Amino acid sequence: MHGLMMERPLLISDIVRFTERTNPDVEIVSVTIESPRHRCTWRDVFRRARQLANALTAAGVKPGDRIASIAWNDYRHVELYYAVSCMGAVMHTINPRLFPEQLEYIINHAADRFLFVDPTLLPLLKPLQGKTPTVERVIVMSSDAVVPEQLRGVLTSYESFIGGQSDRYEWPTFDERTASSLCYTSGTTGHPKGVLYSHRSNVLHAYAGCMGDSVGVSAKDVILAVVPMFHANAWGLPYNAAMTGTKLVLPGPKMGDGETLVDLMNSEKVTMAAGVPTVWTLLLNYLAQSGKRVPTLRKTLIGGSAVPLSMIRTFAEEHGVEVNQGWGMTETSPIGTIGSLSPAMQELPAEERYRMAAKQGHGVFGIEMKIVDEVGNELPWDGKSAGELKVRGNWVCSGYYGLDHSPAHDADGWFATGDVAVIGPDGFLQITDRAKDVIKSGGEWISSVDLENCACGHPDVMIAAAIGVKHPKWEERPILLVVPRPGRTPERDSVLAHIGAHFAKWQLPDEVIVVEALPMTATGKISKKDLRDKYRDVLMQRGAG
Ligand code: ADP
Repeated sequence: MHGLMMERPLLISDIVRFTERTNPDVEIVSVTIESPRHRCTWRDVFRRARQLANALTAAGVKPGDRIASIAWNDYRHVELYYAVSCMGAVMHTINPRLFPEQLEYIINHAADRFLFVDPTLLPLLKPLQGKTPTVERVIVMSSDAVVPEQLRGVLTSYESFIGGQSDRYEWPTFDERTASSLCYTSGTTGHPKGVLYSHRSNVLHAYAGCMGDSVGVSAKDVILAVVPMFHANAWGLPYNAAMTGTKLVLPGPKMGDGETLVDLMNSEKVTMAAGVPTVWTLLLNYLAQSGKRVPTLRKTLIGGSAVPLSMIRTFAEEHGVEVNQGWGMTETSPIGTIGSLSPAMQELPAEERYRMAAKQGHGVFGIEMKIVDEVGNELPWDGKSAGELKVRGNWVCSGYYGLDHSPAHDADGWFATGDVAVIGPDGFLQITDRAKDVIKSGGEWISSVDLENCACGHPDVMIAAAIGVKHPKWEERPILLVVPRPGRTPERDSVLAHIGAHFAKWQLPDEVIVVEALPMTATGKISKKDLRDKYRDVLMQRGAG
């Protein structure tokens, strides 16, 4: 017997209609190159989104067309998110940190018709000239005044594109499975792959982000979204914030600038901030050097790569800020797990609490997870058995855009994440490695994440990367690369002694190399592939035996 309940399509335009009536006056504060503090409300954003939808319709944009952005987090990007998806077209967010060849590949693969580009990112288009035949028009996300003079005849400004358009537009109703947005993974091996979100997946994911022990977005907070809108929908925050009537603070091109972030936190009374670990390393350094405080901040949501325990401790003890770690992927929209602690865990002594928070956390309802051995048998949740993490759920991709076959998806609909993990009896996930970064010495696994986490606890170490390199006897051995804290000089023996207190002797790195910086991927992760390429033979050359 079926229930007698209505079935309404889950559409992003529902968020618009709801928010316009319920939370129209809530503010969005943005940094742009035109203004250090642009202020507007959800009412303004949605009014302008309708003007934009009219402008796109007049320009011939049809349902299903791909409209791309190469842009920072600001109010115009939010308008674009809503206008493009709600009119039935596909919002393709592009990561400006990709190499020119990758930009060319994904624009052509997606067959984007329009490119909306932040004025600070226009130089990225130069190497693409003549190489992206599907792109009909480039719109600069600014007013006319900011468009470089020599380009004024060629490029249109966003303000002149939407100016004069009516702000009346009826958002159409369509199948909730309609594609809403597209984001390519950075593709460290092979070509980037397109993850094609739907209205249904985005709305369900947005609900999940509003659950209290998930991201927990609430109108009681003011959220600073340092996670880019070009990376997995800024973790869904532009949708969560609208749904809940939460004030959103967007750092624009200044997302890597400690001073701006702290200014924004203090002047806008930010209570919650989200971003990848590299952003928070930068922020904590800035706070330590400047002596500034962030008194209103109570929580940071950190994900994208493992959060060092030392970062969790510093946030807690020096700033009274709780860290919630999240695990996710572009393929999972991205929310997968969240490390918010249960009431019982909150009662633990501080160090144990930090240790729990350094794990990736519990599943969020809507995502099923399991770990499997090399032949696909499910492993127990005993906190010891390590295997590949697989996930399934309504906001996990079922394939990749334009690819007939995905080796990551199995017949039962599980998606293989490429991450190696253990899950405890308490349901807490702990990522030990990315499968391709695993270090295997004499047949035994050594967790690079654990080594890095421990090394970051050394007072002289700011960032650490453990990689496996060739070894004449053990096939592979770990080495550690460390970036010093400002003004410090890590000593090899001292770093090894620090790690030695927590690891068995055979797990210790064979070498510690101090470097000024580590190569980063487009999504702000340490590029282990580049490190392996560079240091592959370092132990062979030294004749280590
Ligand atoms: P890309 O692969 O393009 O860099 P993704 O955001 O899709 O971008 O990366 C997802 C991967 O990031 C995961 O498979 C995992 O390896 C890593 N990751 C994400 N969050 C965490 C976390 N909290 N701890 C450890 N690794 C993480």
